[in-house]
Amino acid sequence: KLHNTILELKGNIRVFCRVRPLLPDDSVGTEGKVISYPTTTEALGRSIDLIQNGQKHSFTFDQVFMPDASQEDVFVEISQLVQSALDGYKVCIFAYGQTGSGKTYTMMGRPGSPDQKGLIPRSLEQIFQTRQSLLPQGWKYEMQVSMLEIYNETIRDLLSTNRSYSDMSRTENGVTGKQYAIKHDANGNTYVSDLTVVDVHSSKEVSFLLDQAAQSRSVGKTQMNEQSSRSHFVFTLRISGVNESTEQQVQGVLNLIDLAGSERLSKSGSTGDRLKETQAINKSLSSLSDVIFALAKKEDHVPFRNSKLTYLLQPCLGGDSKTLMFVNVSPDPSSLGESLCSLRFAARVN
Ligand code: ADP
Ligand code: MG
Repeated sequence: KLHNTILELKGNIRVFCRVRPLLPDDSVGTEGKVISYPTTTEALGRSIDLIQNGQKHSFTFDQVFMPDASQEDVFVEISQLVQSALDGYKVCIFAYGQTGSGKTYTMMGRPGSPDQKGLIPRSLEQIFQTRQSLLPQGWKYEMQVSMLEIYNETIRDLLSTNRSYSDMSRTENGVTGKQYAIKHDANGNTYVSDLTVVDVHSSKEVSFLLDQAAQSRSVGKTQMNEQSSRSHFVFTLRISGVNESTEQQVQGVLNLIDLAGSERLSKSGSTGDRLKETQAINKSLSSLSDVIFALAKKEDHVPFRNSKLTYLLQPCLGGDSKTLMFVNVSPDPSSLGESLCSLRFAARVN
Protein backbone atom coordinates (compact mmCIF):
# COMPACT_ATOMS: atom_id res chain seq x y z
CA LYS A 1 0.00 0.00 0.00
CA LEU A 2 2.76 2.39 0.96
CA HIS A 3 4.27 2.10 -2.49
CA ASN A 4 1.08 2.99 -4.28
CA THR A 5 0.85 6.11 -2.17
CA ILE A 6 4.37 7.09 -3.11
CA LEU A 7 3.51 6.50 -6.75
CA GLU A 8 0.52 8.79 -6.58
CA LEU A 9 2.50 11.54 -4.96
CA LYS A 10 5.37 11.26 -7.37
CA GLY A 11 3.68 10.60 -10.66
CA ASN A 12 3.96 7.27 -12.33
CA ILE A 13 7.61 7.01 -13.16
CA ARG A 14 10.20 5.71 -10.78
CA VAL A 15 13.88 4.95 -11.22
CA PHE A 16 15.83 2.35 -9.29
CA CYS A 17 19.58 2.09 -9.61
CA ARG A 18 21.35 -1.22 -9.12
CA VAL A 19 25.11 -1.63 -8.83
CA ARG A 20 26.28 -5.15 -9.53
CA PRO A 21 29.14 -6.72 -7.56
CA LEU A 22 32.67 -6.71 -8.91
CA LEU A 23 33.36 -9.75 -11.03
CA PRO A 24 36.69 -11.57 -11.42
CA ASP A 25 37.04 -10.19 -14.95
CA ASP A 26 36.62 -6.58 -13.86
CA SER A 27 39.72 -4.44 -14.02
CA VAL A 28 39.89 -3.63 -10.33
CA GLY A 29 42.28 -5.77 -8.32
CA THR A 30 45.33 -5.37 -10.50
CA GLU A 31 45.40 -1.61 -10.14
CA GLY A 32 43.63 -1.41 -6.81
CA LYS A 33 40.45 0.48 -6.27
CA VAL A 34 40.58 3.78 -8.06
CA ILE A 35 36.96 4.58 -7.53
CA SER A 36 35.06 4.63 -4.33
CA TYR A 37 31.61 3.52 -5.18
CA PRO A 38 28.43 4.25 -3.29
CA THR A 39 29.27 5.73 0.02
CA THR A 40 26.46 3.88 1.75
CA THR A 41 27.26 0.61 3.41
CA GLU A 42 23.67 -0.64 3.41
CA ALA A 43 22.18 -2.83 0.70
CA LEU A 44 19.64 -0.17 -0.01
CA GLY A 45 19.95 3.56 -0.23
CA ARG A 46 18.84 6.51 -2.24
CA SER A 47 22.02 8.07 -3.46
CA ILE A 48 25.10 7.06 -5.33
CA ASP A 49 28.36 8.92 -5.89
CA LEU A 50 30.79 8.40 -8.71
CA ILE A 51 34.24 9.86 -8.56
CA GLN A 52 35.89 10.70 -11.83
CA ASN A 53 39.27 12.44 -11.86
CA GLY A 54 38.80 13.52 -8.28
CA GLN A 55 35.42 15.04 -9.05
CA LYS A 56 32.38 13.68 -7.28
CA HIS A 57 29.12 13.18 -9.18
CA SER A 58 26.13 12.54 -6.93
CA PHE A 59 22.80 11.09 -8.02
CA THR A 60 19.60 10.41 -6.14
CA PHE A 61 17.01 7.83 -7.17
CA ASP A 62 13.89 6.26 -5.73
CA GLN A 63 16.07 3.35 -4.62
CA VAL A 64 19.70 2.45 -4.99
CA PHE A 65 20.61 -1.21 -4.64
CA MET A 66 24.19 -1.79 -3.60
CA PRO A 67 26.23 -4.75 -4.89
CA ASP A 68 25.21 -7.03 -2.04
CA ALA A 69 21.47 -6.54 -2.60
CA SER A 70 20.01 -9.95 -3.41
CA GLN A 71 17.40 -10.72 -6.06
CA GLU A 72 14.94 -11.10 -3.19
CA ASP A 73 15.87 -7.64 -1.83
CA VAL A 74 15.12 -6.21 -5.25
CA PHE A 75 11.88 -8.09 -5.72
CA VAL A 76 10.50 -6.97 -2.37
CA GLU A 77 10.68 -3.41 -3.66
CA ILE A 78 8.77 -4.11 -6.86
CA SER A 79 6.23 -6.70 -5.80
CA GLN A 80 3.52 -4.08 -5.19
CA LEU A 81 4.04 -2.68 -8.64
CA VAL A 82 3.77 -6.14 -10.17
CA GLN A 83 0.66 -6.77 -8.14
CA SER A 84 -1.01 -3.68 -9.54
CA ALA A 85 -1.19 -5.37 -12.97
CA LEU A 86 -3.80 -7.67 -11.38
CA ASP A 87 -5.74 -4.58 -10.30
CA GLY A 88 -5.94 -3.50 -13.93
CA TYR A 89 -2.90 -1.27 -14.25
CA LYS A 90 -0.57 -1.17 -17.19
CA VAL A 91 2.92 -1.67 -15.86
CA CYS A 92 6.31 -1.40 -17.56
CA ILE A 93 9.58 -2.36 -15.94
CA PHE A 94 12.75 -1.63 -17.92
CA ALA A 95 16.37 -2.59 -17.39
CA TYR A 96 18.70 0.04 -18.83
CA GLY A 97 22.48 0.02 -18.83
CA GLN A 98 25.60 -0.88 -20.72
CA THR A 99 26.31 -4.47 -21.71
CA GLY A 100 27.61 -6.39 -18.70
CA SER A 101 25.99 -4.13 -16.11
CA GLY A 102 23.46 -6.72 -14.90
CA LYS A 103 20.27 -6.08 -16.89
CA THR A 104 19.61 -9.70 -17.77
CA TYR A 105 20.63 -10.81 -14.29
CA THR A 106 18.08 -8.38 -12.85
CA MET A 107 15.30 -9.41 -15.23
CA MET A 108 15.90 -13.14 -15.66
CA GLY A 109 18.48 -14.06 -13.05
CA ARG A 110 21.14 -16.70 -13.30
CA PRO A 111 20.00 -19.84 -15.10
CA GLY A 112 19.92 -22.94 -12.92
CA SER A 113 20.23 -21.01 -9.69
CA PRO A 114 16.78 -20.75 -8.08
CA ASP A 115 17.72 -18.24 -5.38
CA GLN A 116 19.15 -15.99 -8.07
CA LYS A 117 15.97 -15.95 -10.11
CA GLY A 118 15.31 -12.53 -11.54
CA LEU A 119 12.25 -10.40 -11.45
CA ILE A 120 10.50 -11.94 -14.45
CA PRO A 121 10.18 -15.42 -12.92
CA ARG A 122 9.49 -13.96 -9.47
CA SER A 123 6.76 -11.69 -10.82
CA LEU A 124 5.05 -14.58 -12.56
CA GLU A 125 5.15 -16.78 -9.51
CA GLN A 126 3.61 -14.02 -7.46
CA ILE A 127 0.91 -13.28 -10.02
CA PHE A 128 -0.17 -16.89 -10.31
CA GLN A 129 -0.14 -17.29 -6.53
CA THR A 130 -2.27 -14.20 -6.10
CA ARG A 131 -4.62 -15.39 -8.79
CA GLN A 132 -5.13 -18.56 -6.77
CA SER A 133 -5.72 -16.65 -3.55
CA LEU A 134 -8.34 -14.39 -5.18
CA LEU A 135 -10.46 -17.32 -6.39
CA PRO A 136 -12.58 -17.49 -3.19
CA GLN A 137 -13.55 -13.84 -3.72
CA GLY A 138 -14.92 -14.70 -7.14
CA TRP A 139 -12.06 -13.42 -9.27
CA LYS A 140 -11.27 -15.37 -12.44
CA TYR A 141 -8.29 -14.30 -14.50
CA GLU A 142 -7.17 -15.12 -17.99
CA MET A 143 -3.53 -14.54 -18.88
CA GLN A 144 -1.71 -14.36 -22.18
CA VAL A 145 1.97 -14.12 -22.90
CA SER A 146 3.88 -12.82 -25.89
CA MET A 147 7.60 -12.24 -26.29
CA LEU A 148 9.36 -10.29 -28.94
CA GLU A 149 12.67 -8.80 -29.79
CA ILE A 150 13.26 -5.46 -31.50
CA TYR A 151 16.42 -5.48 -33.51
CA ASN A 152 17.28 -2.73 -35.99
CA GLU A 153 13.74 -1.37 -35.63
CA THR A 154 12.42 -4.76 -36.73
CA ILE A 155 10.16 -6.92 -34.60
CA ARG A 156 10.88 -10.60 -34.25
CA ASP A 157 8.42 -13.02 -32.69
CA LEU A 158 10.26 -15.14 -30.12
CA LEU A 159 7.42 -17.63 -29.71
CA SER A 160 6.88 -18.32 -33.36
CA THR A 161 7.71 -21.82 -34.51
CA ASN A 162 9.40 -20.22 -37.52
CA ARG A 163 12.12 -19.00 -35.34
CA SER A 164 15.21 -18.66 -37.46
CA TYR A 165 16.44 -15.30 -38.52
CA SER A 166 16.25 -16.19 -42.21
CA ASP A 167 12.54 -16.76 -41.77
CA MET A 168 12.40 -13.28 -40.47
CA SER A 169 14.09 -11.76 -43.45
CA ARG A 170 11.71 -13.65 -45.67
CA THR A 171 9.04 -12.08 -43.54
CA GLU A 172 10.50 -8.69 -44.20
CA ASN A 173 10.40 -9.39 -47.89
CA GLY A 174 6.77 -10.31 -47.54
CA VAL A 175 7.16 -13.97 -48.53
CA THR A 176 5.56 -15.32 -45.39
CA GLY A 177 3.22 -12.37 -45.28
CA LYS A 178 3.98 -11.64 -41.64
CA GLN A 179 4.07 -7.96 -40.97
CA TYR A 180 4.42 -7.59 -37.22
CA ALA A 181 2.73 -4.22 -37.54
CA ILE A 182 2.00 -2.37 -34.31
CA LYS A 183 -1.66 -1.40 -33.98
CA HIS A 184 -3.51 0.49 -31.30
CA ASP A 185 -7.21 -0.20 -30.86
CA ALA A 186 -9.96 2.09 -29.60
CA ASN A 187 -9.66 0.68 -26.05
CA GLY A 188 -6.08 1.79 -25.80
CA ASN A 189 -4.58 -1.65 -26.27
CA THR A 190 -1.70 -2.54 -28.53
CA TYR A 191 -1.58 -5.44 -30.91
CA VAL A 192 1.24 -6.64 -33.05
CA SER A 193 -0.18 -8.33 -36.12
CA ASP A 194 0.87 -11.97 -36.60
CA LEU A 195 2.55 -12.09 -33.20
CA THR A 196 2.18 -15.38 -31.32
CA VAL A 197 0.10 -14.96 -28.17
CA VAL A 198 -0.11 -17.92 -25.79
CA ASP A 199 -2.74 -18.56 -23.11
CA VAL A 200 -1.00 -19.44 -19.87
CA HIS A 201 -2.31 -21.05 -16.70
CA SER A 202 0.74 -21.42 -14.48
CA SER A 203 4.17 -19.91 -13.92
CA LYS A 204 5.65 -23.26 -15.07
CA GLU A 205 4.07 -22.75 -18.47
CA VAL A 206 5.58 -19.30 -18.63
CA SER A 207 9.06 -20.58 -17.72
CA PHE A 208 8.73 -23.05 -20.54
CA LEU A 209 7.94 -20.19 -22.93
CA LEU A 210 10.83 -18.13 -21.55
CA ASP A 211 13.17 -21.02 -22.35
CA GLN A 212 11.71 -21.23 -25.84
CA ALA A 213 12.24 -17.50 -26.33
CA ALA A 214 15.83 -17.70 -25.06
CA GLN A 215 16.52 -20.45 -27.54
CA SER A 216 14.93 -18.47 -30.30
CA ARG A 217 17.13 -15.48 -29.47
CA SER A 218 20.30 -17.56 -29.56
CA VAL A 219 19.33 -19.06 -32.92
CA GLY A 220 19.11 -15.55 -34.30
CA LYS A 221 22.42 -14.78 -32.68
CA THR A 222 24.44 -17.45 -34.43
CA GLN A 223 22.81 -17.01 -37.81
CA MET A 224 23.13 -13.27 -37.92
CA ASN A 225 26.17 -13.04 -35.69
CA GLU A 226 23.93 -10.88 -33.61
CA GLN A 227 24.48 -10.23 -29.93
CA SER A 228 21.35 -10.37 -27.81
CA SER A 229 22.72 -7.24 -26.17
CA ARG A 230 22.06 -5.40 -29.43
CA SER A 231 18.30 -5.95 -29.27
CA HIS A 232 15.47 -5.08 -26.91
CA PHE A 233 13.64 -8.02 -25.33
CA VAL A 234 10.00 -7.37 -24.51
CA PHE A 235 8.01 -9.78 -22.36
CA THR A 236 4.29 -9.03 -22.18
CA LEU A 237 1.70 -10.57 -19.87
CA ARG A 238 -1.90 -9.55 -20.52
CA ILE A 239 -4.29 -10.08 -17.67
CA SER A 240 -8.05 -9.95 -17.87
CA GLY A 241 -10.04 -10.52 -14.74
CA VAL A 242 -13.74 -10.85 -14.02
CA ASN A 243 -15.35 -11.04 -10.63
CA GLU A 244 -18.19 -13.50 -10.92
CA SER A 245 -20.11 -12.13 -7.97
CA THR A 246 -19.67 -8.39 -8.42
CA GLU A 247 -19.25 -8.45 -12.22
CA GLN A 248 -16.26 -6.11 -11.90
CA GLN A 249 -13.76 -6.39 -14.74
CA VAL A 250 -10.10 -5.50 -14.96
CA GLN A 251 -7.59 -5.49 -17.82
CA GLY A 252 -3.97 -5.22 -16.78
CA VAL A 253 -0.70 -5.54 -18.63
CA LEU A 254 2.76 -6.30 -17.33
CA ASN A 255 5.65 -5.47 -19.67
CA LEU A 256 9.14 -6.51 -18.63
CA ILE A 257 11.86 -5.17 -20.88
CA ASP A 258 15.54 -6.02 -21.10
CA LEU A 259 16.88 -3.16 -23.21
CA ALA A 260 19.75 -3.25 -25.68
CA GLY A 261 23.10 -2.24 -24.21
CA SER A 262 23.34 1.51 -23.83
CA GLU A 263 27.09 1.76 -24.49
CA ARG A 264 28.00 4.40 -26.99
CA LEU A 265 29.40 2.67 -29.99
CA SER A 266 31.65 4.81 -32.05
CA LYS A 267 29.86 5.71 -35.24
CA SER A 268 33.05 6.49 -37.06
CA GLY A 269 34.45 3.02 -36.57
CA SER A 270 31.39 1.13 -37.68
CA THR A 271 30.18 0.54 -41.19
CA GLY A 272 27.40 -1.37 -42.91
CA ASP A 273 25.25 -3.55 -40.66
CA ARG A 274 27.10 -2.51 -37.57
CA LEU A 275 26.46 1.15 -38.26
CA LYS A 276 22.79 0.51 -38.98
CA GLU A 277 22.56 -1.43 -35.73
CA THR A 278 24.25 1.31 -33.74
CA GLN A 279 21.96 3.95 -35.17
CA ALA A 280 18.87 1.86 -34.43
CA ILE A 281 19.87 1.34 -30.79
CA ASN A 282 20.80 4.98 -30.27
CA LYS A 283 17.56 6.06 -31.83
CA SER A 284 15.32 3.80 -29.79
CA LEU A 285 17.05 4.48 -26.46
CA SER A 286 16.98 8.21 -27.01
CA SER A 287 13.32 7.99 -28.08
CA LEU A 288 12.58 6.13 -24.87
CA SER A 289 14.31 8.80 -22.86
CA ASP A 290 12.43 11.55 -24.74
CA VAL A 291 9.10 9.84 -24.12
CA ILE A 292 9.67 9.25 -20.41
CA PHE A 293 11.00 12.77 -20.01
CA ALA A 294 7.96 14.26 -21.78
CA LEU A 295 5.63 12.16 -19.62
CA ALA A 296 7.43 13.10 -16.41
CA LYS A 297 7.22 16.78 -17.36
CA LYS A 298 3.58 16.30 -18.39
CA GLU A 299 4.24 17.79 -21.78
CA ASP A 300 1.43 17.94 -24.30
CA HIS A 301 3.33 16.26 -27.06
CA VAL A 302 4.87 12.89 -26.28
CA PRO A 303 6.91 11.55 -29.21
CA PHE A 304 5.77 7.91 -29.02
CA ARG A 305 6.02 7.35 -32.74
CA ASN A 306 9.74 7.93 -33.02
CA SER A 307 10.68 4.32 -32.40
CA LYS A 308 9.12 0.85 -32.51
CA LEU A 309 9.74 0.36 -28.81
CA THR A 310 7.93 3.49 -27.65
CA TYR A 311 5.11 3.04 -30.17
CA LEU A 312 4.63 -0.53 -28.99
CA LEU A 313 4.58 0.49 -25.34
CA GLN A 314 2.60 3.71 -25.81
CA PRO A 315 -0.53 2.60 -23.92
CA CYS A 316 1.63 1.27 -21.09
CA LEU A 317 3.70 4.41 -20.68
CA GLY A 318 1.09 7.16 -20.71
CA GLY A 319 -2.14 7.67 -18.81
CA ASP A 320 -2.44 6.06 -15.41
CA SER A 321 0.10 3.38 -16.20
CA LYS A 322 3.10 2.74 -13.98
CA THR A 323 6.68 2.73 -15.16
CA LEU A 324 9.82 1.64 -13.39
CA MET A 325 13.28 1.95 -14.88
CA PHE A 326 16.20 0.03 -13.45
CA VAL A 327 19.46 1.66 -14.30
CA ASN A 328 22.10 -1.03 -13.99
CA VAL A 329 25.69 0.00 -13.44
CA SER A 330 28.95 -1.87 -13.22
CA PRO A 331 31.48 -1.06 -10.49
CA ASP A 332 34.35 -1.76 -12.85
CA PRO A 333 36.57 1.34 -13.01
CA SER A 334 36.97 0.89 -16.75
CA SER A 335 33.20 1.35 -17.03
CA LEU A 336 33.18 4.63 -15.19
CA GLY A 337 32.43 6.74 -18.25
CA GLU A 338 29.52 4.52 -19.27
CA SER A 339 28.21 4.35 -15.71
CA LEU A 340 28.17 8.13 -15.56
CA CYS A 341 26.24 8.25 -18.85
CA SER A 342 23.72 5.73 -17.59
CA LEU A 343 23.17 7.62 -14.35
CA ARG A 344 22.75 10.88 -16.23
CA PHE A 345 20.22 9.24 -18.53
CA ALA A 346 18.32 7.94 -15.53
CA ALA A 347 18.52 11.23 -13.67
CA ARG A 348 16.94 12.92 -16.67
CA VAL A 349 13.86 10.75 -16.53
CA ASN A 350 13.59 10.66 -12.74
P1 ADP B 1 23.77 -7.34 -19.18
O1 ADP B 1 22.51 -8.10 -19.41
O2 ADP B 1 23.52 -5.94 -18.71
O3 ADP B 1 24.69 -7.37 -20.34
P2 ADP B 1 24.34 -9.44 -17.31
O4 ADP B 1 23.06 -9.47 -16.57
O5 ADP B 1 24.55 -10.49 -18.33
O6 ADP B 1 24.56 -8.00 -17.98
O7 ADP B 1 25.50 -9.42 -16.22
C1 ADP B 1 26.87 -9.54 -16.55
C2 ADP B 1 27.50 -10.56 -15.62
O8 ADP B 1 27.43 -10.10 -14.28
C3 ADP B 1 26.82 -11.90 -15.64
O9 ADP B 1 27.81 -12.88 -15.50
C4 ADP B 1 25.93 -11.87 -14.42
O10 ADP B 1 25.66 -13.16 -13.91
C5 ADP B 1 26.75 -11.03 -13.45
N1 ADP B 1 25.90 -10.25 -12.54
C6 ADP B 1 25.17 -9.16 -12.89
N2 ADP B 1 24.53 -8.65 -11.83
C7 ADP B 1 24.85 -9.42 -10.78
C8 ADP B 1 24.50 -9.41 -9.39
N3 ADP B 1 23.68 -8.46 -8.88
N4 ADP B 1 25.02 -10.36 -8.61
C9 ADP B 1 25.85 -11.31 -9.12
N5 ADP B 1 26.22 -11.37 -10.39
C10 ADP B 1 25.73 -10.45 -11.23
MG1 MG C 1 21.88 -9.01 -21.19
